[in-house]
Amino acid sequence: RAKAAGGNRYELADADSNARVIARHSLTNGLPAALEKGEFFIEYQPLVRLADGTVRGAEALVRWLHPVHGVLGPDQFIPLAEDTGLIVPLGRWVLEQAARQARKWRDGAEDNSEPLRVNVNLSPCQLSHATLVSDTVAVLENAGLCPSTLCLEVTENDLIGADEDALRPLRQLADLGVDIALDDFGTGYSNLSYLRRLPVSQLKLDRSFTRGMQRAPADPVDVKIVEGIVSLAHTLDLAVTVEGVETAVQADHLRMLGCDTAQGWYYARPGPPERLHTLALADAS
Ligand code: C2E
Ligand code: MG
Ligand code: MG
Ligand code: MG
Repeated sequence: RAKAAGGNRYELADADSNARVIARHSLTNGLPAALEKGEFFIEYQPLVRLADGTVRGAEALVRWLHPVHGVLGPDQFIPLAEDTGLIVPLGRWVLEQAARQARKWRDGAEDNSEPLRVNVNLSPCQLSHATLVSDTVAVLENAGLCPSTLCLEVTENDLIGADEDALRPLRQLADLGVDIALDDFGTGYSNLSYLRRLPVSQLKLDRSFTRGMQRAPADPVDVKIVEGIVSLAHTLDLAVTVEGVETAVQADHLRMLGCDTAQGWYYARPGPPERLHTLALADAS
């Protein structure tokens, strides 16, 4: 019986991986039409200043409302879009939408309030695409936004090994005043002196480092690591954002450790853009 079950499982796994290949194929084929048909949408997740709990902006996170499979997360289709090159037009669309949204937030805010920033993720294909700088400048101009309203997030892994030529577009954007954040920081193997050469102004510390602080007592090793990273980052004039903050205990701890900004379910899950406005207005009153 055990053997039969074992055999069965083998067969299932096989059928399963076949199904996965087919699903992958059909998802990939559906991507270009999905962009034309407007099946993608963006959720925004607030970025909160730890010092006073106010909202400083939000990260734009793309989703696909698939006619058959329902809402798909980026991990399910961004890799496919990267393989086929569709990530370039898709990424440009995300950037346009996010900039337009940031403009709406600004138009709806009090005159003297600080504008809400918007963070947009970039894929390596976009980084090496010839029109990244001119596209970004055009998007900002069309939306009437000042460059510092935008933060582009690039993962540490995508920058490892990038030479000066590869970094030039990012450096140009940084010189224009666009913020650049190093996403998923700590999951790659960049050596620390390399950090100094990158045109980044922020580190986004990966969720894996803050998981050990969700409940008291905090994992003492994680505390030491975060402490070390914050001190290094601040020495290099980099702000630290922490991802995956899910509890009040964790938020308190990270604030005491000197982290600047936090993002996570404790504050809000990714959601519609209107909600951000409500949160920011609540700060002001
Ligand atoms: P990321 O940039 O590191 O984004 C953070 C991810 O963590 C998001 O997943 C977010 O929903 C999730 N998250 C936020 N707070 C918490 C929390 O408290 N607990 C937990 N467990 N998770 C939390 P999501 O939306 O599934 O996005 C996954 C990744 O897809 C992103 O990771 C980013 O690398 C990529 N991505 C999203 N949108 C875009 C896009 O427009 N372009 C590109 N190139 N990549 C994108
Ligand atoms: Mg990100
Ligand atoms: Mg991240
Ligand atoms: Mg990530």
